[in-house]
Order: sequence, then structure tokens, then C-alpha cells
Amino acid sequence: MYKGEKDMALPSFIGPRWVEIDLDAVKFNVAQIKKLLSPETKLMAVVKADGYGFGAVEVSKAALEAGADMLGVTTIDEGLELREMEVEAPILVFTPFMPEEKDVFINYNFTATVGSYAAAETLLKENLEHSLKVHIKVNTGMNRLGMEPKEAVEFVSRVYGNPFIEVEGIYTHFAVTPRKNRNFVEKQFKTFMEVVSSLEDKGYSIPIKHVCSSAALLDMPHMHMDMVRVGTLIYGQYPFGYEKIIPLKDPWKVKAKIIHVKKVFPGEKIGYGGDFTVKKAVRIGIIPVGYADSFGTAPEMNPKNFLDLLKMIIKKIFAYFGIRAGMPLVKLADLPLRVLGRIGMQFTAVELPDENADVGSIVSVFIRRTNSSSRLPRVYISEKRVIGIRVPWGKRSCIQRQGEYS
Ligand SMILES: *Cc1c(COP(=O)(O)O)cnc(C)c1O
Repeated sequence: MYKGEKDMALPSFIGPRWVEIDLDAVKFNVAQIKKLLSPETKLMAVVKADGYGFGAVEVSKAALEAGADMLGVTTIDEGLELREMEVEAPILVFTPFMPEEKDVFINYNFTATVGSYAAAETLLKENLEHSLKVHIKVNTGMNRLGMEPKEAVEFVSRVYGNPFIEVEGIYTHFAVTPRKNRNFVEKQFKTFMEVVSSLEDKGYSIPIKHVCSSAALLDMPHMHMDMVRVGTLIYGQYPFGYEKIIPLKDPWKVKAKIIHVKKVFPGEKIGYGGDFTVKKAVRIGIIPVGYADSFGTAPEMNPKNFLDLLKMIIKKIFAYFGIRAGMPLVKLADLPLRVLGRIGMQFTAVELPDENADVGSIVSVFIRRTNSSSRLPRVYISEKRVIGIRVPWGKRSCIQRQGEYS
């Protein structure tokens, strides 16, 4: 029987589908990134959105062990999860500071993003008990968040030296990758540097200036400055158009057991809606994953140009005839398996290659990581052993060491 890859001893409470995350691969990727940085440049591991689906707590711990200096999250609740799990490293919250969150920032020692003069004004009026570390976000062309360059300079002039507001950093975010539009990135960087030099001219020094995320980190070494903010590369993926520039390992595998096997004969149908009619006898396997796990779903994209539109239409025409273009969604030991009929909420039928595929065989399943359901159990691996488990029904404290579960 195909067992899929070498079967690791997993506790039976895991159930029939799970995500395997290789924390050694995460550490390897952090080490590769650090090789590109000069020793003075800090590395922020971006662990927003539950660590891009991998598990923010586990990725944070692995990245910090491998030498990351700081963590980046989007919201305070994401930061709180880390603090609750005893992650003590500095955490920058990207969402601009809101006055009502002041106590959380101070009690949990989060670093705040200041993104508008208005929010900053309220900070000045507050009688803070302790000093709050802030990074100023400057809008240089993305036009999503951040102060305008002039405002940023004014703001620093007002708060510099204030004992309750420590301006530790200043940053901006690029709207495109350098490979998509290098000029635009250069222009954003120039605007940012103008802010930096007018601050320096006035005698204000801000220790952590940062602009690069994964793509600019690879292409624009002269923009690394005091810190880079890295997500994508840590998770073993490349920004679009940057494939294989540095060696990375993919830490992510979704696996499922075949839970039922049967033969279906010509003329019979498979799945909801009876959309799929069998032409010649097939042996099928049922796997316990579906669209509730984000299996078979993708973010809706608008066509970028006319050619793109044509491609999309042709894909839909193929799909109408039951031919799915693109990446295979299910594989059994490297063999792609055809999905038959509609993908259900939590069950999907696949065509089996031979009698060796049976109930209990393990398949790997393609699910886009950033929107993979957090209900899928995560199994954390290091040195080919299970070192932790996160299940949706348990408290985070059920992350256990090998041998502790029964
Ligand atoms: C998500 C994010 C990053 C990381 O981007 P990657 O391309 O995944 O490396 C960096 N900075 C900010 C502000 C972000 O929101």
C-alpha cells in the first residue's frame, strides 16, 4: 500500500488531515536571508496573518532562534497571542496606533506604528505612564497608510525628546516589486530618503530606518538600511518573478488520508449536483478536505490586460469540459490524482491510480497557505520528529513535546 511519504508517528487525535510544518526549513530560510544582510542590518520576521498560515507562535520562535531581531504583526490581537505564548522579542504592530489601544501597547510592550498626525496628536495629549516606542510610517506612493513626508518631519520635530514617546523607527512600504517597476521603487525610496535627510539636518537621529520587504531585499541591497521586514522568503516562497534567487526550503505540506475507496461504473455520477458522469469504470478515493479548508479556492483576480482576459476565458472553457488547468491539487507519492466532480465542503473524490492506493494511504494536497483554514491541525517537525502540535479544539498549551501526548 502507498503510505505516501515515510509515515511519522502522529497521535490519532490529529484526525485524517493536517499540515506538516518543518521548522528546520524556516530556520534554514532565515539563515539564507541573513547571509544577504550586513551585520548592522536587523531582520524583522513578519508573522502577520497567523504567520502566513504557518502558525505565528511557532514561526516566531523558530525565526528568533535562527537570528531574527524583531517581529511584525498587523494587529494587537496578533501580538497578544505571541505574548501569551511567552514570545518576548520586540513586536511592531503595522496597523496605525489607535488611542484606545494605548494601555495594551504599554502593558504588552508593543511598538506602535504612527501613521497620521491626528492619531499622534492624541498621543501627545495623553499622560502616558511609561514611554511608548513608536515607528513612524511615511506614505511615499502606496497611498494606503502613513503620514505624508512633510507631516512626518513636523511630527518628529514636535515629539523628539518627549520622555513618553520614543521615536525608535521610521519606515515606508513599497507598492510594487523592483522587477515590476524599478523606477517606482526608486522614486518611493528617494521620497523616503528626503524625509530622513531633513530629519538628520535638524539633528534628529532615528535608530531603525526600514523600507525593504522580500522583493526589495533581494534586488536592492543599497536599500537594506537598519532593518528589513521579511515574510514571503521566510516561508520558503519567492515574490512573483524572483524564483530561485537564493536557496530556500519549503516548510509547508498539507496531507490527508484516503478515508474511503470504491468503484464507480460508466453512467454513474460523482458528487454534489451530479455534474460529473463516469465514462469508464474508475476506482475512486475520498479525502476529507474541501472548500471549507480553502481547498480548490483562489483569490479572485481581475484580468490585467486583454491577453490575460483571454487566458482566463480559455481556462473556464476547459473547466466546463472537466479539464482543470494548472497545479495538481492532490498527489500520491508524486503522482498527480484527478479530482472528480465538485469539491465538497469537506469531502472530495479523486481518481486512484492502482490497487496500492487504499484506505489509509496518505496524499499531499495543495492548499494556498495564507488562506488555509486555521482549523486544519498543524504538526511541527524538527529533525524529522514531531516537536509540537496545534489543534483547533485545544488551548495553545496543547503544543507539546514529543512523547508527552498519549
Ligand atoms: C507583509 C508586510 C511585509 C512582508 O512582506 P513580504 O513581501 O511577505 O516579505 C513587510 N512590511 C509590511 C509593512 C508588511 O505589511
